[in-house]
Amino acid sequence: NQTLAQSDPELANAIQQEFQRQQRNIELIASENFVSPAVLEAQGSVLTNKYAEGYPGKRYYGGCEYVDIAERLAISRAKEIFGADHANVQPHSGAQANFAVYFALLQPGDKILGMNLAHGGHLTHGSPVNFSGKHFNFVAYGVEEATGRINYDKLREIALQEKPKMIVAGASAYPRAIDFKRISEIAKEIDAYLFVDMAHIAGLVAAGLHQNPVPYADVVTTTTHKTLRGPRGGLILCKEKYAQLIDKAIFPGSQGGPLMHVIAAKAVAFGEALKPEFKAYQQQILNNAQALAKGLMERGFNLVSGGTDNHLMLVDLRGTGITGKEAETILDEVHITCNKNAIPFDPEKPFITSGIRLGTPAVTTRGFKEADLDQVAEIIAMVLKNKDDEAVREKARSMVKELCDKYPLYA
Ligand code: PLP
Repeated sequence: NQTLAQSDPELANAIQQEFQRQQRNIELIASENFVSPAVLEAQGSVLTNKYAEGYPGKRYYGGCEYVDIAERLAISRAKEIFGADHANVQPHSGAQANFAVYFALLQPGDKILGMNLAHGGHLTHGSPVNFSGKHFNFVAYGVEEATGRINYDKLREIALQEKPKMIVAGASAYPRAIDFKRISEIAKEIDAYLFVDMAHIAGLVAAGLHQNPVPYADVVTTTTHKTLRGPRGGLILCKEKYAQLIDKAIFPGSQGGPLMHVIAAKAVAFGEALKPEFKAYQQQILNNAQALAKGLMERGFNLVSGGTDNHLMLVDLRGTGITGKEAETILDEVHITCNKNAIPFDPEKPFITSGIRLGTPAVTTRGFKEADLDQVAEIIAMVLKNKDDEAVREKARSMVKELCDKYPLYA
């Protein structure tokens, strides 16, 4: 009955240091968040010990009566949040959820129309180094260079010309609202499936602050750990007629035993998403994103598409003399965490890039408000405009510390 620190001090120390990093840094990675203590508790529970292959009431192992309660709670809450006919809460990750969707509905080699990865799409939407691009024939739609936005007429033109069996909507780095209804009309015209991956915006959707794709799409997937603020994992929602196909594609199709402790933590997070405070939290994410975007633009930075409708923005660093890679490193040195990100039509290689992606879900969980995000914009501008000035960096670090001390994490 030793504590972790007693039984494995080396590992315990790594966890402690990561905790200190999370407390010390301003977290602007758009896909990250801080889960509640209740989510942490469920995920760290004895449910990690249980094998439960199958689904509630139909397991291949004995002793599943209590984990069945956890999974049923997760399923019913997920359906309630998004108004879905069916939910599968077992995908270990967003990528595995997407894998299951393609293999449930399509045959290898089938044509799929997805968002250009260089314009904000995700690896699992057809990258040649990913299972999606290796097993399916992807064609792409993208954003317009002048506007940074999806042109739905052009998307339709490509769809009519290519006649894919499926259209994938959703993105990892698109700062604007997506019109799923419009894309569903295009999919109907060509008799294609519409698959929406709402991983980034699921929390906004849950709170009614972004159009819900569930009424329009055949299948919707999401990760549970981004704006939705749950444990790391995936979720699939679909129309009743695809329920069996989807469930079979997860188990036994592509996964073995579900992670019952993670499913329990998903249930907790979904319960939180059903509370009125969650809507206020998501609204604050949006308000904070507006404040950060305004603060950056006022200080001379360009944002792809000229702003944001959601929780994230892409700073276009072309012309500043700094690449995305350099900006990520400079900001990390003053304890602001973000990621370099290609901008649409980026002249730089993907490992260098001309952009950084910034998001507000994590700082909003910490308690940051609009004025704090203006201060964050000030710090970013200071250090990126004075990239070799150590005195400026020292000042930036103390400003970061002041903000982080004001909003302690897991206090
Ligand atoms: N789909 C989208 C749109 C994403 O942005 C991501 C992750 O960034 C994923 C899927 C993959 O999720 P995971 O990292 O859990 O596999």
